[in-house]
Amino acid sequence: MTYTHRHLLGIEPLHPAEITTILDLAETYVEQNRSGDKHSDALRGLTQINMFFENSTRTQASFELAGKRLGADVMNMSMQTSSVKKGETLIDTALTLNAMHPDLLVVRHPHSGAVDLLAQKVNCAVLNAGDGRHEHPTQALLDALTIRRKKGRLHRLTIAICGDIAHSRVARSNLILLGKMENRVRLIGPPTLMPTGVAEFGCEVYDDMKKGLEGADVVMMLRLQKERMDGGFIPSEREYYHRYGLDAEKLAFAKDDAIVMHPGPMNRGVEIDGTIADDINRSVIQEQVEMGVAVRMAAMDLLARNLRAARAA
Ligand code: ASP
Repeated sequence: MTYTHRHLLGIEPLHPAEITTILDLAETYVEQNRSGDKHSDALRGLTQINMFFENSTRTQASFELAGKRLGADVMNMSMQTSSVKKGETLIDTALTLNAMHPDLLVVRHPHSGAVDLLAQKVNCAVLNAGDGRHEHPTQALLDALTIRRKKGRLHRLTIAICGDIAHSRVARSNLILLGKMENRVRLIGPPTLMPTGVAEFGCEVYDDMKKGLEGADVVMMLRLQKERMDGGFIPSEREYYHRYGLDAEKLAFAKDDAIVMHPGPMNRGVEIDGTIADDINRSVIQEQVEMGVAVRMAAMDLLARNLRAARAA
């Protein structure tokens, strides 16, 4: 097993072998989660604190369940009602929590880089559960596990990431991971929702869905991230759906066995047609949620091993 880092802050610092290590270990947790006894004790005796400064449904629930299934004491801090609202800085909040001796801190924050900053101030392992537009590493890992299981491999695939790329940490972490594993990544979306400098990641950029989806093995749809927009990026949601919403007609340009993914939460009728999202022959959206718990168990297990080894040294 090779995973050398103290934290999981992003996909960027990971070596392909470390990505494979996490995914391989996650496979064992998929089996455990499907079995009669979902518990093991990789995190027994450890304390996990989940700090979500931004709303979350599936990610928070997934980390909580992952920690509980591995035997950790799990605490969810409600950041909506915390001292942050009274003016406490992120660093002071971190130092206060640090004094309670947590072992794993799971953090989501609206600002890019905030989780890295916090990781420098605490003595425990930190997992980034999404920071601004920057990274969402466990999402990319769960997507990778889903793709690997469905396609039988995680290399030399043509993967189209479609929609609001500019505001998406999911797109960023995914294109880094998929690039590291030697896939062909295409970004599809209106030019107004395409970040500058995407060329440096070595992906192809399209503003026409049909051209971009041609021959794709995987179609990954993204939510229109309205909360991160501060102006008019699209003419209207109707127009957007017409040009970029995934429906049967556009999906027909991808390979016949192409899978459809979405990180959730989904806006049906905006970026994806409801019947495609529910089509069990194409959509793997529910599998993504299942893989999320397993991948988070694997990531926390590996970080806990490193933490224990460092403390014993
Ligand atoms: N749940 C994902 C995230 O936190 C995707 C989204 O919100 O659209 O980034």
